Amino acid sequence: MEREVQRLRQAFRSGRSRPLRFRLQQLEAMRRMVQEHEKDILAAIAADLCKSEFNAYSHEVIAVLGEIDLMLGSLSEWVTAKPVKKNLLTMMDEAYVQPEPLGVVLIIGAWNYPFVLTIQPMLGAIAAGNAVVLKPSEISENTAKILAKLLPQYLDQDLYTVINGGVEETTELLKQRFDHILYTGSTTVGKIVMEAAAKHLTPVTLELGGKSPCYIDKDCDLDIVCRRITWGKFMNCGQTCIAPDYILCEASLQNQIVQKVKETLKEFYGENIKESPDYERIINLHHFKRVQSLLEGQKIALGGETDEATRYIAPTILTDVDPETKVMQEEIFGPILPIVPVKNADEAINFINDREKPLALYVFSHNSKVIKQMIDETSSGGVTGNDVIMHFALTSLPFGGVGSSGMGAYHGKHSFDTFSHQRPCLLKSLKREGAHKLRYPPNSQSKVDWAKFFLLKQFNKGKLGLLLFVFMGVVTAVLVKAVYY
Ligand code: NAD
Repeated sequence: MEREVQRLRQAFRSGRSRPLRFRLQQLEAMRRMVQEHEKDILAAIAADLCKSEFNAYSHEVIAVLGEIDLMLGSLSEWVTAKPVKKNLLTMMDEAYVQPEPLGVVLIIGAWNYPFVLTIQPMLGAIAAGNAVVLKPSEISENTAKILAKLLPQYLDQDLYTVINGGVEETTELLKQRFDHILYTGSTTVGKIVMEAAAKHLTPVTLELGGKSPCYIDKDCDLDIVCRRITWGKFMNCGQTCIAPDYILCEASLQNQIVQKVKETLKEFYGENIKESPDYERIINLHHFKRVQSLLEGQKIALGGETDEATRYIAPTILTDVDPETKVMQEEIFGPILPIVPVKNADEAINFINDREKPLALYVFSHNSKVIKQMIDETSSGGVTGNDVIMHFALTSLPFGGVGSSGMGAYHGKHSFDTFSHQRPCLLKSLKREGAHKLRYPPNSQSKVDWAKFFLLKQFNKGKLGLLLFVFMGVVTAVLVKAVYY
């Protein structure tokens, strides 16, 4: 692994990944790969998660293609240096921020959306001009295999590589020095990644999980609310990092919610959910048993059927859930939806704030003040009001967690920024040395007074302010010359 990372570092040092044209070519190659092997990619995802081709396309492939389109259209603007505001001391200089690639970056993906969670960050890393080591999750082995097979056929092999393997290989990989690590997965492993990164002072983006609450206010249109929640909770068999993990609402709403979700499930998946091509399965036996165990001792208001042979767990709702029970202690990551009764929005806010900061927060209310209050008085990675999941799909919004749900963010331009260093550049002339004498020893009260004048004066940006600014600059230059020459 050391040799592999070294090989990439050498290629990065050659400067090949930096020119805009090269980056665009690689992004275009990625698009060709997705288009030419769409069927293979969909089949791999289907094999890992028992997912229909339609679902695999709309849950994963479309986001990747959308991201490539965005980057191809915007990258030339993103890579250009951005001039910054100057002060009196630097008004004759050139001052700008130049994004530069970080170097060799490591992207470690999770299994629940095994294609988009690896390729989407990788696009950002390529767009920013880095070399990339991609480590897909071994749990979604079919997607991991297809990535290792296809990427080298389309991308520059010296700059981008896929390393497959499990905990042992990832542990070995984490011993290497990278210039950035983006990790998607559990909070527990997130800590291992951060510890390994700290040894090299490598910055990390951690895309972790948590229990994302969903508050339903009284007087909501429950037909619509429950349709949206049913979609977001049970897609991918509940194995979505930003799925609503549990519902908080007044106790009296519980039965209606159960009824409406039941009707929606019929509408979405038909009479026999097990037969529906739109309903996925739990990824493996370990996770099946883990999710199944969360049902023990609970009041099952809907669903609850399980089948170990096919790793099927029916969409399930638990009512009157005690917050102290296991299902409320860990992220569910499966098709179980507990309802915890609360008296009102204030109690819901306290409930949320008593726990770790979640990856997402959902609030349903006709009253925009309630939504605003929930946003103002809690913290979470992201928020969608009156819907679920959808803030993920708007790539102009940064996607990431806060506190134990993660750090840093990506998607669209935010991915480019995550994998870039914003390099401040100030270019001066070797002329006009008089003005510089102000900062050279020996220091004096008069020099301090001039420094105050240069650095502390505020000018507004209006036309008059600008004129005054130029005028003052000229006067100052003359004065400085008179005093110091
Ligand atoms: P996982 O088991 O696939 O692990 C993710 C990666 O970590 C894999 O590549 C794996 O090889 C590596 N890994 C596992 N154990 C390791 C160890 N001990 N040392 C080093 N590397 C190790 O995925 P998971 O952890 O089961 O993922 C589920 C979690 O991920 C959930 O909490 C979910 O919310 C979260 N998640 C977050 C996002 C997000 O975007 N924030 C997206 C998907 C999943």
